[in-house]
Amino acid sequence: MMKTHKDLENKLIRLDGRGYKAYKEIKGIYTFPDYIFLIDHVQGDPFAAPSRVRIQIPQSIAGFPKDLYQNPSRATALADFITRQFDRQARKKSRRRGTGNSGIISIDRPGQEVLERTSAFVNTDQVEIRFFVGLPARGRGISSRQAVEVLCEDLPVIAERVLKFHRLDRAAVQSIVETVEDADAIREVLRDRGLVAFVADGALLPRSSGVDPRPLEAEAVLFQSPPAFRVTFDLPNLGPIHGMGIPRGVTLIVGGGYHGKSTLLRAIERGVYNHIPGDGREFVITDPDAVKIRAEDGRRVAGVDISPFINNLPQKRSTTSFSTENASGSTSQATNIIEALEMEAKCLLIDEDTSATNFMIRDHRMQELIAKEREPITPFIDKVRQLFTDHGISTILVIGGSGDYFDAADTVIAMEHFLPQDATKRAREIARKYATERTREGGSLFGNIRHRIPLPHSLDPGRGSRGVRLKAPDAETITFGSERIDLSSVEQIVEKSQVRAIAHAMAYAKSHYVDGHRTLHDIVELIMEDIQEEGLDRVASAPYGDLVCFRKFEWAAAVNRLRTLATR
Ligand code: ADP
Ligand code: MG
Repeated sequence: MMKTHKDLENKLIRLDGRGYKAYKEIKGIYTFPDYIFLIDHVQGDPFAAPSRVRIQIPQSIAGFPKDLYQNPSRATALADFITRQFDRQARKKSRRRGTGNSGIISIDRPGQEVLERTSAFVNTDQVEIRFFVGLPARGRGISSRQAVEVLCEDLPVIAERVLKFHRLDRAAVQSIVETVEDADAIREVLRDRGLVAFVADGALLPRSSGVDPRPLEAEAVLFQSPPAFRVTFDLPNLGPIHGMGIPRGVTLIVGGGYHGKSTLLRAIERGVYNHIPGDGREFVITDPDAVKIRAEDGRRVAGVDISPFINNLPQKRSTTSFSTENASGSTSQATNIIEALEMEAKCLLIDEDTSATNFMIRDHRMQELIAKEREPITPFIDKVRQLFTDHGISTILVIGGSGDYFDAADTVIAMEHFLPQDATKRAREIARKYATERTREGGSLFGNIRHRIPLPHSLDPGRGSRGVRLKAPDAETITFGSERIDLSSVEQIVEKSQVRAIAHAMAYAKSHYVDGHRTLHDIVELIMEDIQEEGLDRVASAPYGDLVCFRKFEWAAAVNRLRTLATR
């Protein structure tokens, strides 16, 4: 027979004052008047990560109209909304009630992006929400009165306010569901329209500060497309929307310092994800396979063919299978590009602010002084067109510092006082009038993109420690076995829970697909297919509530930065 909330209460009362470990006995499933309560994992002590629990409420009681979750875009948005609502209500009830995390009620809180996550699910049968509770302790003993208060009094109140549709702000629900559906509608047709990015008129791009991703409220200049780049999309909810379309090919963003170039690129970077209403970037939409590229000196590299960019290194180091424990600015940037291409990136996003100068440009005078035989690097300027003509890969490049790039560009956007202008024609005229006198380097073709096969022993989360260790101590680090993976330069990771999910997916890859024959690309495709079909739970070993979807590029970025990785 199913245990009830009364059984839970009685059990808790019996446990009062006993050692904290006795809490393990409450693991299980309990029926409450409106819902089912699942205690999946009980923390080992009051200071450990809080216990993992779930609530499942049937639709007959929750009453969410089907149209709010009838397609994946809407379902993701609705789950996001419910998560945020739970976060808001839980904060009102959450408070320290004893030692350590005693009495804390929390959920994996989303940021500005609306992402597929495991904190909430809605379907025709039920709504499920996953969250965390710090089981209360006095010292190291069980505090049952407080435990009853949290689990049997506070949680029902929160559930009532979050999981019953009639209690929610209907306009707010509608707004997020429609916004996300519209954003996905744009992203879906972007390629067919010959575009790699769209920035809606009226979009608010600058952020509150370098550490606060919320919109800059005061004195923000709203985006306005120049007439030449104006495109229109017809959206399912909003109807027609206008803005700037960035066409496939090579696009330069130029302009004076402090005129908003990097801010525009950063918004485009994040445009691979959807945003909450009010963010300002709801309708900044980018090709889903656009990858931010930057220099990252110090990173490790395992057997990458960087020969399209780098040849004839000192000491005859191989560049067709380049490995290093400590890449330079230029070799790291070349590696980041090749690894993105290996994952079939369709568009590269590059900012001069975070690039290696000698990777980006080698001008006429430098070519005269340092002969090509003594310069291993073929600069990006000589490869950016070939990337497009040979492989169909577009580039959006912020470059205020070198007009030599005008020869390579299809489109030139000039930022002036935070507003874009079409500078394509003028840049072309200037390019005709003032030749760069550069000699083209690196041959007439981009070169091949070679796939690597990871070796199973080199990707092992159990290595060097007792059992598997997977952790995401912050949004920039994975602990994988005894290795620490530094993701601080992987700029399209936006949440710690993405990092956590990537860590799980790495261990999943190792146990399912890394066989010494499959390429990294084959492996990631299989993982993404599994997730597509069964959700993120597929790659995790338990029903975690704090996993968030990631792209194949960020998964590969983590694997590529694992210092034990070996490939052939
Ligand atoms: P650039 O890359 O051209 O040097 P940035 O993009 O770094 O310039 O922007 C410079 C400053 O201007 C930043 O503090 C940024 O937040 C702010 N800014 C950017 N775009 C806008 C805008 N549309 N309205 C108001 N301020 C902006
Ligand atoms: Mg800048």
